[in-house]
Amino acid sequence: MRGGTLILLLGLVGVGIAFDKGVWTLPAGWNPWRPLAVENPPTPLTRWKLGRLQDDPEACLAVLARSDEPALAYTPLADHEPVAGCPLENVVRLERSGVRFSSSFVASCPLAVAWLRYERHRLQPAARALFGEPVASVEHYGSFACRNIYGREEGRRSQHATAEALDVAAYRLADGRRIALPGDWGDDDVEGDFLERARQGACDVFGTVLGPDYNAAHADHFHLSMRGWRVCR
Ligand SMILES: [Zn+2]
Repeated sequence: MRGGTLILLLGLVGVGIAFDKGVWTLPAGWNPWRPLAVENPPTPLTRWKLGRLQDDPEACLAVLARSDEPALAYTPLADHEPVAGCPLENVVRLERSGVRFSSSFVASCPLAVAWLRYERHRLQPAARALFGEPVASVEHYGSFACRNIYGREEGRRSQHATAEALDVAAYRLADGRRIALPGDWGDDDVEGDFLERARQGACDVFGTVLGPDYNAAHADHFHLSMRGWRVCR
């Protein structure tokens, strides 16, 4: 065995012992064995952890239950079929998060977790940076709709059909100022900047984000949904 190899081996043994004795610990967001937490900053593992919650309602509800967001209010819902052909599984009714909503809505549990992460790690930091105050409420066009993707008669179900998507139309700040997609999108001012940051931030969290630049059907809202891999238009 050459000297270099021996040193490498001893080094690896040392690293192993350090982890084993708890001298070093991986930050929770980087540890694949640690469950997702709303407050952990995004890492490359986050999407994978979020995706796994879709098939594990118990683990997903546990993430919501452990959230340290004091204002969070939600009700877990039993699996049900509100409209024939669109059964809902692993869903909650989200009444409020750190923000108030224009109305409560049914969300897949992972969508609720994703929203909380978006708000914590992207939306509120952008609002504080640009306006010096947080977003207080969010206006939306709903989450559940038993239908196919717009413009498709046949085939692909919209992610709204499984309550895995939310359409956001406007954000209102603590001082009452309203920043809306119909009106402020694309403007060369602080409101326009904020909406651009709100969209980019959403792309870091959600699987698919569609906005006014995508097509006319999305001219007045952001479509934020779970499935997809960084679709950001
Ligand atoms: Zn939508």
